[in-house]
Amino acid sequence: MARVTVIGVGFGGMKAVREIRRQVPDAQITVVAPRPELLYYPSLVGIPVGATTPDDVRIDVRDFLARHDVDFAPAVVTGLDEAGRRVLTDQGEIANDALVIASGAGSLARLPGLEHTHPLCEGPDAAARIREGLAALDHGTIAFGFAGHPDEPAAARGGPVFEVLLSVDTQLRREGRRSQFELVFFHASTEPGSRLGERAVRRVMDEMGRRDIHAHLGEPLRGFTPERVLTAAGEIPADLIVFVPGMEGPAWARDTGLPLSPGGFIRADRSCRVLGHPGVFVVGDAGAYAGAADWLPKQGHAAELQAVAAGRNVASYLAGRPANGTFREELVCIIDALDTGILVYRTARVARAWSSPAWRLAKHALEARTRRAYGAGRRAGAGPVD
Ligand SMILES: Cc1cc2nc3c(=O)[nH]c(=O)nc-3n(C[C@H](O)[C@H](O)[C@H](O)COP(=O)(O)OP(=O)(O)OC[C@H]3O[C@@H](n4cnc5c(N)ncnc54)[C@H](O)[C@@H]3O)c2cc1C
Repeated sequence: MARVTVIGVGFGGMKAVREIRRQVPDAQITVVAPRPELLYYPSLVGIPVGATTPDDVRIDVRDFLARHDVDFAPAVVTGLDEAGRRVLTDQGEIANDALVIASGAGSLARLPGLEHTHPLCEGPDAAARIREGLAALDHGTIAFGFAGHPDEPAAARGGPVFEVLLSVDTQLRREGRRSQFELVFFHASTEPGSRLGERAVRRVMDEMGRRDIHAHLGEPLRGFTPERVLTAAGEIPADLIVFVPGMEGPAWARDTGLPLSPGGFIRADRSCRVLGHPGVFVVGDAGAYAGAADWLPKQGHAAELQAVAAGRNVASYLAGRPANGTFREELVCIIDALDTGILVYRTARVARAWSSPAWRLAKHALEARTRRAYGAGRRAGAGPVD
């Protein structure tokens, strides 16, 4: 019986498990992650404005894994041995015949004064602290920004920052407090979020203008103090700073001998095969995919498309067939502004953006679908997840 190990229970890991079980019904599948909990990040942006709670973001995947006869190993992966055939963890080793890495990305901590910012993407608790920070202010300036990796600019997370910025604007208006606040956006480039496509960036920037949000663009970041964003062009006074640093590859992979991109992401081809490591695949945020479009986002949707390709390729690899299926290159993103939504869609042929409140409903439907698929209706907060 073939042994397959999957690292991570995020979008990529869960979709890979599903596809591998479908393709290789008798495989012995083991999933490794610290907790059997999928963090549904798209709902995280609702926490600062009270639209969602930390429990809404956590999906307990234990029922799903049991239903699919998958072993869960609660552990933190620390490295690999034998070119990936053994996974090293803080709880021991796991041998495999094929490995899928879906451990997500890390966050770059290089800018001085980062401790004075609110890192939205760190998780539900960090997002909840933004909500507390907003509640504690009765007036002032709130600054929002994001950055990329200096050696791999594509490693950036801009969409959630646009979402939380527009949502905070809407929420403050609903509370009748907007006139007491100045909202500002800062970014080192003049075209923030350009992977969304020119039209989408224009639409988001127009939306900011319409809402009287001042944008500081083309000002390289120097760091932060408790009350200021420091840029090459000067200082932006701020009472609350929401900032998403650039992304970097998974820290555990650094000394494994896996091939890494300048930003530390695991190098693979468009079949998710890690270069020079037969039987080792990577999906989602952890990977850098040679030959893929330069606008390809690090996104849940992309992670799922990659996981389907990787799952099929695992089956081919185990059967001794060519494991060369590729993933579809597609960007689908809904920027939820609480009162409206912006749908961004991009492929090799089209790059479009549409605004409508209906896209918000679509976003909620996607969340419900994911919860149904992996959560069996059980919220992670409903019982102990050890
Ligand atoms: C605030 C926010 C909003 C977003 N909104 C959207 C959106 O609207 N649409 C969209 O498509 N994408 C969105 N994204 C991006 C999306 O969430 C990510 O691209 C996606 O989660 C990547 O999936 P992944 O499986 O690669 O990694 P992750 O989801 O990060 O999962 C990584 C998994 O690996 C585990 N892991 C990590 N390190 C180890 C280790 N050493 N050992 C064992 N396990 C480990 C983690 O516990 C986790 O289970 C958003 C992201 C954020 C932060």
